[in-house]
Amino acid sequence: MSATLLSMLNGGRVSLIDCGNILDGGGIGTVGVSGDQRKVTLGMTPVTTVSSSAALAADDDAAVSSSEIGSSPADASSYSLLGVPTKCNQTASNSDADFNKKKPIFSFGVVTDVQYADIEDGRSFSGVPRYYRHSLTALGRAIQNWNELGYLSFAVHFGDIVDGFCPRKESSAAVDKVVRTFNRFRSGPVYHMIGNHCLYNLPRASLNEILQIPTAPDCRSYYSFTPCKGFRFVVLDGYDISLLGWPEDHPHAVEAALVLDKGNPNENKNSPEGLRGLERRFVKFGGGISTTQLEWLDNILKEAEAEEEKVIIGCHLPMDPRSTDPICLLWNYDEVLRVLHNHSCVVATFAGHAHTGGYAVDKHGIHHRVLEAVLECPPGSDAYGHVDVFEDRLVLTGTGALVSSVMHFTGQQKATMRDES
Ligand SMILES: [Zn+2]
Repeated sequence: MSATLLSMLNGGRVSLIDCGNILDGGGIGTVGVSGDQRKVTLGMTPVTTVSSSAALAADDDAAVSSSEIGSSPADASSYSLLGVPTKCNQTASNSDADFNKKKPIFSFGVVTDVQYADIEDGRSFSGVPRYYRHSLTALGRAIQNWNELGYLSFAVHFGDIVDGFCPRKESSAAVDKVVRTFNRFRSGPVYHMIGNHCLYNLPRASLNEILQIPTAPDCRSYYSFTPCKGFRFVVLDGYDISLLGWPEDHPHAVEAALVLDKGNPNENKNSPEGLRGLERRFVKFGGGISTTQLEWLDNILKEAEAEEEKVIIGCHLPMDPRSTDPICLLWNYDEVLRVLHNHSCVVATFAGHAHTGGYAVDKHGIHHRVLEAVLECPPGSDAYGHVDVFEDRLVLTGTGALVSSVMHFTGQQKATMRDES
């Protein structure tokens, strides 16, 4: 990857979505905290309905901000389906609880950037309030909601489980506390991925073990799983090439140093000062995908095509420039997109890191959704959701700050799964 990644130090268009709140190293301010109110607003969030074919017609203007929302309520709270570890709804009969007259094939919970720390509330570098303790309380409400739904197959956290301001001697305990909260999820496994704040706290090997990353023995943090026949979920490690999480002399850290030296002239590599457009992604708190991981991804997608599977990708770092501020982008996002576009099986990518969220559909009809962070929810508010997977679309039902949306597959990507009921 080195040559290609190093050659990408070019300018480009600025995203329509402003995140601008994830700069590390910002000082901690003081924010007032009110009482913790338990309030769940399931099914009351407006829904964005975007068909990828419509978005394709709009071409480069396909990006949709979180504020551009429609009004169709997604009443997913009335499901009462199944109860087995992999709740694939391929044989169950119809019921009045069916969503849009049809059951989802399977469903999963989503939440991102818990960034818990047992410290006073503070602010991001750009002044956005962060509620380090409340994020764990809000995560608890997410788990409670998912358990009440009862039909989710699994849940995914998209990285940054603890915050970089967590005192280092408390890092393990903090991660453990969040993991124990996730363990209250009763319907299935919780899948994790590595974020920059995770790596500020603990070495990669420890994180892989604590987070039960399936590939932990290889000391790599990317993997895939098949939640249901006809579908595959791929978790990428956006910090495979990074100064974070590797010993200084590790080849991946050496490569990252070369990328940053070329792409970012600032002494403080966390600063994007002077960088323009897409150049702004070359910051130390970003990262890239190694050649090995790209080849692995390509092979996984070949397998998925052979098995007629539809693929959903998860990565802490966003990979579509129109779905996020460039400062949040994966360094070699274009290489990753090239691999995705060489196959017809990928229907969507989900990411965290940007905190304010974002959304775009690319020219190949792949939906790119950046999820809103729970860390920045004031006490009493929430940011979590669940995704219902149908043969022709994903329905994301968000609670609180997490915006709902319906993401239709293109004809080419339409799931081959058929309802057998
Ligand atoms: Zn992050």
